[in-house]
Order: sequence, then C-alpha cells, then structure tokens
Amino acid sequence: MSTIIPIQADIFCEPCKHCGARPVVEQKKGKFAVICPTNREHYKGKAGIVDVADWNKQNKPPIPFVKNIQSQQKAS
Ligand SMILES: [Zn+2]
Repeated sequence: MSTIIPIQADIFCEPCKHCGARPVVEQKKGKFAVICPTNREHYKGKAGIVDVADWNKQNKPPIPFVKNIQSQQKAS
C-alpha cells in the first residue's frame, strides 16, 4: 500500500513530458519517491529520495512542445 502526497504549490515542477501531469510524492513502506500520478512508467526517479530537481531536468520540454502550448492558449 502506498500514500500519494501532493507537492506543495510553491515548489516549481515541470509538467510530465508524457502526459502533462504535475508530479506527486509517493510514500511506500516509509520511503518517498517522485512519480507521475498518471503512470509511474513516465518517470523513473531515484528510489528513496524526493528529487524534484531531477524530475524537472528529465521533464524539461523541448522548444516545439512549448510553442504548441502557447498556440493552443491563443486559440481558445
Ligand atoms: Zn506522465
């Protein structure tokens, strides 16, 4: 059994590069890990530590992805 803990809103997190979700912290057997709430296959962090900086590094969007988001926002 595991517990999902939201990451505080004032901590900057890149959205998941696969699905755009904000990462969460999973507590399992007393250990913590950063995971994608949609699919844990989306991010493989180091087990046992909460490393949002590593999540951000691995989920940094490539430039075309950023452009897509901006054009979608203009269209709506
Ligand atoms: Zn994801």
